[in-house]
Amino acid sequence: MATAEERLMEWLRDAHAAEEQAKTMLSGMAGRIQNYPTLKARIEQHIKETERQAELVRSCIERRGGSTSAIKDAGAKMLAMGQALSGMFVGDEIMKGSIASYAFEAMEIASYRILITTAQRVGDQETARICEQILREEEAMAEWLEQNIPMLTQQYLAREETPGATAKH
Ligand code: MG
Ligand code: FE
Repeated sequence: MATAEERLMEWLRDAHAAEEQAKTMLSGMAGRIQNYPTLKARIEQHIKETERQAELVRSCIERRGGSTSAIKDAGAKMLAMGQALSGMFVGDEIMKGSIASYAFEAMEIASYRILITTAQRVGDQETARICEQILREEEAMAEWLEQNIPMLTQQYLAREETPGATAKH
């Protein structure tokens, strides 16, 4: 059995790998979007947030005397690359990307809630505070997607019905 301190370190490393995965996934998506400028802009904002989140999580790991896992990070990036590539081969890439983004934010929200509780339990208030700050950005991104997916869907369907228009990305 692991101690709460050991689990905290393990889960911080998982969170760091997830942020590396997010960077690759979001950059791949933003780079391919041509016809949905509001989504592209929101993703680009979240890429900047994600880069900062990865640094913040790394600071928590290092303050606790650990180091980030290069193997975990590389695996996460490869996974994201595969997901981005597979999205290119479907006609509704933008819709599949929206689903993947929302699912990813939901995963991050659950992960940071777990980290906050664990950090508080072991008395690491600084890690708890940082994870709360990151959690708010993930919640804001999830909320943006919730509010904008209907409009994106309308735009997608309208483009699909317009001769000569590209709907997929
Ligand atoms: Mg994140
Ligand atoms: Fe996120």
